Amino acid sequence: ILNVQHLEKRFGENLVLRDIDFQVRPGQVTSIIGSSGSGKSTLLRCLNLLEDPTGGDILYHGQSILDAKFNVNKYRTQVGMVFQSFNLFKNFTALENCTVGQRKLLGRSKEEAEAIALKNLEKVGMAPYRDARPDQLSGGQQQRVAIARALSMDPEVLLFDEPTSALDPEMVGEVLETMTQLAKEGLTMIIVTHEMAFARDVSTNIVFMDQGVIVEQGPAKEIIDMPKQERTKAFLTRYT
Ligand code: ATP
Ligand code: MG
Repeated sequence: ILNVQHLEKRFGENLVLRDIDFQVRPGQVTSIIGSSGSGKSTLLRCLNLLEDPTGGDILYHGQSILDAKFNVNKYRTQVGMVFQSFNLFKNFTALENCTVGQRKLLGRSKEEAEAIALKNLEKVGMAPYRDARPDQLSGGQQQRVAIARALSMDPEVLLFDEPTSALDPEMVGEVLETMTQLAKEGLTMIIVTHEMAFARDVSTNIVFMDQGVIVEQGPAKEIIDMPKQERTKAFLTRYT
């Protein structure tokens, strides 16, 4: 689905991503790991065109998303994003959060959007809270609503940027369980995470980044259990 080629991103003088190469096939779960400042969020933001790459290319079904003729708005409905800080609309209920994008961007009717939203709220265990506003929900519950909202757009790929790192420890599990279930259902996901056990058990592939480059990538269990590069080994000993 996605083919990242020699991707580069600089902020002024600061080269933040260099020669990033990886591919994502349908149904794969790719976890991006690495220490703070290694460029993980910038990479995800480039994939969603929240940042403009300064070099290289990103192909979506073989088409460059950087091409002037490429339909970026449509692409953003197909490649959704879940943020660390949920980014729910504060004055909207859980249900409304899950319908607004469908109605505005996909042109769905109120009835259709609500039916799809409810199905997805149910999937993440949040249907009983359909009328609650974000400030009435725990962090884990808000993040599950954010996931339901992203799912309601019928994305082909979902990007997650540290979806559990803003949560109290007791709420991490419920969000990881939801994501594990989505992986089992075959949803294509790219996940920036510090949850190494989750990355090992749920991902197809792991990409390890350090200082803006991919140091090592491959099948999840190989990277976690038998890393080849010294920098990967050093990083993993800090997390296991
Ligand atoms: P963390 O684990 O802390 O979230 P990260 O791997 O996601 O880190 P990034 O947020 O991608 O790292 O940042 C990589 C580098 O890019 C950092 O040096 C950061 O200062 C720089 N950077 C990120 N966004 C910008 C920006 N908008 N303008 C200038 N520099 C930026
Ligand atoms: Mg980050």
